[in-house]
Amino acid sequence: MSAEMQKYIDEAERVLLHTYNRYQVVFDRGEGVYLYDMDGKKYLDFVSGIAVFALGYHNEAYNDALKSQIDKIIHTSNYYYNAPAIEAAKKLKAVSGMDRVFFTNSGAEAVEGAVKTARKYAYLKDGSTDHEIIAMNHSFHGRTMGALSVTGNPHYREAFEPMIGNIRFADLNDFDSVMAHVTDKTCAILFETVQGEGGIYPATEEFMRKVRALCDERDILMMLDEIQCGMGRTGAMFAWQRYGIRPDVMTTAKALGCGVPVGAFLMTEKVGANSLVAGDHGTTYGGNPLACAAVCEVIDLFEKQDVLANVERVGAYLERRLDEVASKFPRVLERRGVGLMQGLVFDGPVGGIIGRAMEKGLVLINAGTDILRFVPSLVIEERHVDDMVEILCECISETEGEWQ
Ligand SMILES: *Cc1c(COP(=O)(O)O)cnc(C)c1O
Repeated sequence: MSAEMQKYIDEAERVLLHTYNRYQVVFDRGEGVYLYDMDGKKYLDFVSGIAVFALGYHNEAYNDALKSQIDKIIHTSNYYYNAPAIEAAKKLKAVSGMDRVFFTNSGAEAVEGAVKTARKYAYLKDGSTDHEIIAMNHSFHGRTMGALSVTGNPHYREAFEPMIGNIRFADLNDFDSVMAHVTDKTCAILFETVQGEGGIYPATEEFMRKVRALCDERDILMMLDEIQCGMGRTGAMFAWQRYGIRPDVMTTAKALGCGVPVGAFLMTEKVGANSLVAGDHGTTYGGNPLACAAVCEVIDLFEKQDVLANVERVGAYLERRLDEVASKFPRVLERRGVGLMQGLVFDGPVGGIIGRAMEKGLVLINAGTDILRFVPSLVIEERHVDDMVEILCECISETEGEWQ
């Protein structure tokens, strides 16, 4: 590593709050599915900023759209209308089939909005303030207090107790465990259509349908977190669209702005008309012209570049190649996932493999300690998958025995 890059890393450890154990690299620029560090070393990127940069780095049409918006206006206020936000909401409605949009600045903030929506919806029905939300074990919904309260990982929550109240945890794909927590006070059932951080667990069709039927029967809001699995990653624009149902509320973020910080929570007309009203919720930046210009261009480019077809094709190829890896190495217990959201489950920590891959110019990430997660750009091609698999196999072989 150059002295210059080392200097930045040393400085980072003096000025940034140490909330991440970072890899020893300073990325400087990107081109398509490749990243370059400050020293000019090239990396094949199978993380894409954790499922964010769906269209690849240095996408000219996307960059041009942002530049021209910057020259017009970057921010006004939600007290006034702005055209990019209206256009972005129309496009998001069209691709999601939901009816009403609220733009946020992050995923966690979209989850906060969904939680408030559920509570207000239930409050308007009976005037009481003791409603309950059912969330899932192993879920991840973000780091702010509301989002953390519905995150099913006690390790993330413990030091920050007390959480917001009346949250119960069930198990994804275990409908009986959900039923065991349903009471007259249940106002929402919240889960990721494909659990991301928790280890790449897709919801089963049966679970989705049963939750939908339960929610319909009892007027409970079905709320799906599509922050990681949405925006084309599974081959459908939103993962729930593969199941022939529609949620009452959904969240999106990560790839929504492809790098510009923006998220959203969306709802049906019925929920919109019976929940948050003027004065109930707001944000200074949320839905500003720059962020929404990014959303508009991202949705347009998804169509122009036929991104979903690419995910279908290359996702199936990635699945096949990872299945080969799984059958070749006994240390790999299982492959799980949908489209370009895949996980390889190992019989021990994958940190050594990720470190070795970085040395060889391949960026990978984990989901939990034992699972390698693959969430590349959605414009990735078969040849990139082949290059990745070749390096991955070397790394698995070379780290053999490291944790035994
Ligand atoms: C990343 C993520 C979040 C949190 O999004 P932030 O933008 O980091 O706040 C919430 N839910 C899911 C499923 C995520 O993957």
